[in-house]
Amino acid sequence: MKKSIYKLVVSLLLIMVNAQWSMVNAQKVICHRGFWDTPGSAQNSIAALVKADSIGAFGSEFDVWMTADGELVVNHDKVYKGVNMETSTFEQVRAIRLDNGEKLPTLDEYLAKGKELKVRLILEMKSLSDFNREDECAAKIARKLKHYGVLDRTDIIAFSINACLAFKKLLPDTKIYYLDNDYTPKKLKTLGFAGLDYEQNVLKNNPEWTQEAHKLGLEVNVWTVNDVDALQFFIDEGVDYITTNNPLKLQQLLEH
Ligand code: MG
Repeated sequence: MKKSIYKLVVSLLLIMVNAQWSMVNAQKVICHRGFWDTPGSAQNSIAALVKADSIGAFGSEFDVWMTADGELVVNHDKVYKGVNMETSTFEQVRAIRLDNGEKLPTLDEYLAKGKELKVRLILEMKSLSDFNREDECAAKIARKLKHYGVLDRTDIIAFSINACLAFKKLLPDTKIYYLDNDYTPKKLKTLGFAGLDYEQNVLKNNPEWTQEAHKLGLEVNVWTVNDVDALQFFIDEGVDYITTNNPLKLQQLLEH
């Protein structure tokens, strides 16, 4: 009898140790511009969002621009296939085909599809030509997130501090992460943001920032980490999220 209780206690302890260990390697995988480096996909395509979901990634990042006539579209480059996202009309932008044959997506299409999926939506609003346009764009994004009922499944990221502050006012309960590398965790805490989302070399050059952020209750995301050594480095650093073009490799590393 005693022996079986002893065995039970040992098994429970082992389960707890295992659980602790997997919590140590608990980084969340974010597909940068969706999962695009795979057949049939393209950066910031609807297919990339669906594929990020299908591999069980935590999040799928995408970029939002506002056209000259105030429509919201999903794309990374300011000038893409010769068309400037900010100074062209929606009709001009919409005529673009992505490399996988899809029409360049609208934010409406992206959110409608995202609503059907489990993957978290990591929405980057691009920096626009002036603050008024940024404020208008942020307000439109906030309205659409509410309209599609995906607010609680969306995190916001932006390089523009103006955009981050606009979102903080519009969506006080939404997690907002600043991308532009130049604010300390302490400063970000005072502004009420959820954390930092910085380029990998910035975090390597400021090795104390991850722990400092955690002590302040902030989260740390790092971009865009693709090679095995760098992925392993940030797994070991204990950042919360890793944004990558190589989500399958990251998932494989996290399983070990
Ligand atoms: Mg982006």
